[in-house]
Amino acid sequence: VIDIKSMPELPEVETIARDLRKKIKGEVITSFWSDWKKGIRGGYVDFARGVKGRKILDIGRFGKNLMLWLSGGRVMLVHLRMTGKLILRRAMPGAKRDKHVHHIFYFRSGKILEFSDVRKFGSLELRRSQASAQGSLKNLGTDVLSDGFTLEKFDDILNGSKAKIKQLLMDQRKMAGLGNIYASEILFRAGISPLRKAHSLTRSERKKTHQAIKDILKKAVEMRGTSISDYRDASGRRGAFQRVLAVYGRAGKSCSHCGTIISREVIGQRGTFFCKSCQK
Ligand SMILES: [Zn+2]
Repeated sequence: VIDIKSMPELPEVETIARDLRKKIKGEVITSFWSDWKKGIRGGYVDFARGVKGRKILDIGRFGKNLMLWLSGGRVMLVHLRMTGKLILRRAMPGAKRDKHVHHIFYFRSGKILEFSDVRKFGSLELRRSQASAQGSLKNLGTDVLSDGFTLEKFDDILNGSKAKIKQLLMDQRKMAGLGNIYASEILFRAGISPLRKAHSLTRSERKKTHQAIKDILKKAVEMRGTSISDYRDASGRRGAFQRVLAVYGRAGKSCSHCGTIISREVIGQRGTFFCKSCQK
């Protein structure tokens, strides 16, 4: 049984950001439409007025959030949360809109960018400056794919924690980007039980886990993320990392390394998958 409560994590958002950078950098937003105004932080009117006529200068990511740098110093934050998706297409007059599409950006080129969100947890936000955008993200810890996420930084985070390692890896306030899928895969790669207290990891275990974070994420970005339930990239394509998942979603199947049956336990309300023989 696949745990479908998965959401876009760092590799999926990174894939979307890279695609969008290729496809919509330089586009000018001519108008914005929404049927779900509660999903716009700071209010619909200011947002619609604020993005109109702005050029998209660049697209990036922080943690699981997309950042779009617009002309005039504005920064748009896109929080996809559980089921948010961005779909780029050519506008087709008279075409019926999918009922899950709640926001649409219209570009001067004739293309449109749709924000579809089945569960409506996602949101949009427009900030007046880079400093203000950073203020909005100030509760997030170091991005785990950034150069700032060093072994020393990871060490500090572990030392200051009483949580189980699996929960700590997913705590966005401590380190930004990891969710349920990759936290399970990282701990398998590092050979660490998800039930261990974070601060109890030895020096060599810390090193292994830090390396596993970098390796697994790099591989997942190369494979364009994991598509388990809902995730599609900006072209509607699925990622491929689900093909190489070692433990996530594999409860009851045998471990590829030792043959032991993969366990599933609930830690912090999230299904956690691991091999009791390989992970200590
Ligand atoms: Zn095993």
